[in-house]
Amino acid sequence: MVTSGMPRVGVLALQGDVREHVRSLEALGAEAVAVRRPAELATVSGLVIPGGESSVIDKLARTFGLQQPIRAAIADGMPVYGTCAGLILLADRIADGIRGQESVGGLDITVQRNAFGSQIDSFETQLEVAGFDTPVSATFIRAPRVVQTGPEVDVLASLPDGAIVAVRQGALLGTAFHPEMSGETRFHELLLDLIAARELSGCRDVGAAG
Ligand code: GLN
Repeated sequence: MVTSGMPRVGVLALQGDVREHVRSLEALGAEAVAVRRPAELATVSGLVIPGGESSVIDKLARTFGLQQPIRAAIADGMPVYGTCAGLILLADRIADGIRGQESVGGLDITVQRNAFGSQIDSFETQLEVAGFDTPVSATFIRAPRVVQTGPEVDVLASLPDGAIVAVRQGALLGTAFHPEMSGETRFHELLLDLIAARELSGCRDVGAAG
């Protein structure tokens, strides 16, 4: 039987709204640590990729030697939650990345960046999310939307016009909006549940042999 202590969860801290995610994780009783290098990534059992500017986070992740270790951790089943730019980083395909922009990938989706136009850069709305019994207060800031999903992807939330804004595929979770800015912690809770489920199944200890 695995004893479940406080999970140690990383927040990728290269650029973006790191502090808000640390706060959300700590509010749920998790130990949150900033991840800037591979050695730090190796100490966590889950990861949040925050919002910010996806092309900048991408560039810094490659500069700091984190892109491949994050890909390897995802391939190994580590739960990861990406918000906004973080969702873009988790997408297998970016419809309109800047020249040379790469993603970490893992989610079988195509995202379109800044999908809501410059007129309505930012907005807040109440959103129904599959599995949650009350709506989420969702803050969108120059947000992407998911324009295509593969067969393994569950759509968790869409806007009234049909734009997909929250998805899950296995241990990967992504939202186009920022729940952490309105004190919404249910997505972080879901990440902690995914971490607990993985640890209970023993995958983490079995490692490569699993
Ligand atoms: N527009 C940003 C990008 O393309 C994302 C904005 C955000 O994370 N709030 O990376």
